[in-house]
Amino acid sequence: MVVSESEQGSRWYRGDCHVHSSYSNGGEMSPQQLAAEARELGLDFLAATEHNTADAHDEWKALADNDLLIILGQEVTTLSGHWLALGLTPGRVVEWRYDANDDAYRECVESVRSAGGLSVAAHPFAPYPTGRFDYPYEGFDLVEVWNGPWAGDQSWNADNEAALREWRQTLASDVPGKSWGPAIGSSDVHLKGQLGVPHSVVRADELTAEAVLAALRVGHSSMTSSAGIELDFVVSAGNKAAGMGDRLRCAGQPITVLAEIRGTQSGRVALVTPRGEVHRAPLSSQGSTRIEWTTTADDSTYICLEVRDAQGFMLALSNPVFIDRGSPRPS
Ligand SMILES: [Zn+2]
Repeated sequence: MVVSESEQGSRWYRGDCHVHSSYSNGGEMSPQQLAAEARELGLDFLAATEHNTADAHDEWKALADNDLLIILGQEVTTLSGHWLALGLTPGRVVEWRYDANDDAYRECVESVRSAGGLSVAAHPFAPYPTGRFDYPYEGFDLVEVWNGPWAGDQSWNADNEAALREWRQTLASDVPGKSWGPAIGSSDVHLKGQLGVPHSVVRADELTAEAVLAALRVGHSSMTSSAGIELDFVVSAGNKAAGMGDRLRCAGQPITVLAEIRGTQSGRVALVTPRGEVHRAPLSSQGSTRIEWTTTADDSTYICLEVRDAQGFMLALSNPVFIDRGSPRPS
């Protein structure tokens, strides 16, 4: 498999960035039970995002060890949408009593960022009172396009489909140098059996909050419904290669997309560009599917990969690789 420059020296870590224990309304598991389940599932990190409280921070922190990173956070449930603050200092509570007509949110988001944290627009199309995200996306670092099975046992719902569609529109309008918010997938677990469905897979230099948040911030990440699913996705032109979240600069050469999906046995994989779904292949029943596809910078300013099961429910979703026309970056 081709490895992009920024992938060298790093590895993949799995984690769930939207987790509620019994310290949150409707949460039925203790932090201890969730940490044990995370270890059982093979997750490397969790973000504790209780609703508007830091009361559980100490308890969460005590559960961290070399094999499980705990990132402290909060779900900030405002009157017109929820957002996640990730990477808070212990005991810090972010103000939540405002709505999208009130500029107060800007200061809160900015203060999280200036302290090294991330802000995530949570479940933007959640169909319940105050669940829908009415703030402008700009200013938030990430968009949670894939939120867990809160309304049943399906890991993919209509609100995720709507969020994915809207997020892709923001990618299509992306221009080099302009910031874009990478996608994230997290479970929003409240009940037993929901943890990790879905979760994020990030490419980071080490298992620290700083490194994981830095990887999420630039989209060095994918999302998946199961820790048994693995994804390789690299786009190359000439002797340059780029992975998720990166930009491939090419000078008119043909662009090759290589992807390999392991741990799935039925369904399909698709490549998505601003022109829509441009390539599709069935998943191999052998459990490993490899695809190769060629394009040009004129046809594809970004390329995303998505993997769905036979019913159309999402199994894995990548952040985009962006493609710039123009001369290659000097190496
Ligand atoms: Zn939540």
